[in-house]
Amino acid sequence: MGLTRTLTDFELATRPIHPETRAALDRRWADLPPHAQTDNQLLGRCAVGCEGTHGVFPKCNLTCSPCYHSADANKVRIDGDHTVDNVTRQMAYLRRMRGPRAHAQLIGGEVSLLPAADHAAALLAMRAAGREPMSMTHGDFDDDYLRDVVLDENGRPRFRKVSFAAHFDSLMRGRRGAVRPRSEAELNPFREQFAQMFVDLKRDHGVSSYLAHNMTVTPSNVDEVEQVTRDVLDMPFDMMSFQPAAFIGDDRRWREDFGEVTIDKVWERIEKGVGQKLPWQATQFGDPRCNRSTVGVRVGGVFAPLLDPEDPRDIAARDRFLAHHGGMIFGDVPTGILIVKVLRALAAHPGDVPPLFRLMGRVVRRAGGLRKMVAAARRKKVSFKTFVVHNFMDSEQVKPAWEMMEKGIVADDPVLKETQERLGSCMYAMSHPDDGRLVPACVQHGVLDAVENEELRRILPLVGAGVQGAVTPTVVTRPSGLTPVRGTGRVEA
Ligand code: SF4
Repeated sequence: MGLTRTLTDFELATRPIHPETRAALDRRWADLPPHAQTDNQLLGRCAVGCEGTHGVFPKCNLTCSPCYHSADANKVRIDGDHTVDNVTRQMAYLRRMRGPRAHAQLIGGEVSLLPAADHAAALLAMRAAGREPMSMTHGDFDDDYLRDVVLDENGRPRFRKVSFAAHFDSLMRGRRGAVRPRSEAELNPFREQFAQMFVDLKRDHGVSSYLAHNMTVTPSNVDEVEQVTRDVLDMPFDMMSFQPAAFIGDDRRWREDFGEVTIDKVWERIEKGVGQKLPWQATQFGDPRCNRSTVGVRVGGVFAPLLDPEDPRDIAARDRFLAHHGGMIFGDVPTGILIVKVLRALAAHPGDVPPLFRLMGRVVRRAGGLRKMVAAARRKKVSFKTFVVHNFMDSEQVKPAWEMMEKGIVADDPVLKETQERLGSCMYAMSHPDDGRLVPACVQHGVLDAVENEELRRILPLVGAGVQGAVTPTVVTRPSGLTPVRGTGRVEA
């Protein structure tokens, strides 16, 4: 019996695609609106999408314009027990509905306001649910704090790898040393200092990191996107993500006409900063009006995309990979298990090996050839880079569009119809275990946060702050009139 169980477990652990992943992907694909079921769509074929926490630490200590947090967010006390309890519950629901593996953001107000031990506990809870966590921060914290999160009380690493996304832009107010920056360039020393903390962490403790650089874009800083891209490219960030501002959250902090900044405009500025075109059409997460991204390898100053949408051989390789191997989990898998898993996948599809090698050859040629790549690698000038633009929507449209979706009504109004289409193909979900539903982040920030934070104010009042360890009830967010409706095309597992 024991041996049979061991063999069954081994077979499952080394199966190329976990059956729960397969089921979650199939559900995701079936729930996508038809316009999003395209050949380049990754949702439902190799990923269920990103996830994020909500209502777990709404407070922030900067005062940016715009700010996506609701007006009440800063009136909620930070409480580690509340954070860890709710993160655990939200992640357990995501694990149940979306399978054993996904990327999830530890996001709320400012993550570094959490005591380091609670921050670490939240990350561990996310990992325990099969989530690859990323801490979302303004980046204004010290090396000591980072080490207290990453290392245990004996100075031993709690994690082999950590992921942080740091938000840096000149619309932010209150950063130590750059309280009111007059330009993006003024923030470069702070960007460098932040990334350096992780280089030092690797040097001193062997802990790897994945770093994202986030920037909100409005008419006042859109012309600086080009230079920010150029500057940050040479810093040890793995991802550069830009978010055109939307009218979400605290309306006291809306200043400009954000509508002038489009996803195309921002992408063009990024391309100018990189000094070349950044083809993105080969893959798509969700709706192209929401997201645009490309991944590639940067060799010296040249960015070589992993897939060129203009090359039919690349597209054929993409289709093969998605059809045969989409959903295969690589992260957090012990090396021995991973090797067996890959061998089983290749044994099932031996014809995939030559196209894979030919694709790698094309990427090397795009980067300037093998000799150049080896020389650059010696100078530590080879790195993977991802560029992203994520285009949140205004709550003015999200609110009515979502309310109709909850009632199963498809909007006639073209703007609301577009909003519903985008919400239905959302790639960034938040978990509501009490309601038994997943909601798009646009809905969370534009509709639900305000109600949720009012309730949190009551549960975690600022008066009496510092009573860590107090018993805090979990949040139940159930705005009246919102009942789960299936088959409306919205994000729901
Ligand atoms: S619906 Fe909103 S949160 Fe979802 S992918 Fe689109 S912009 Fe992002």
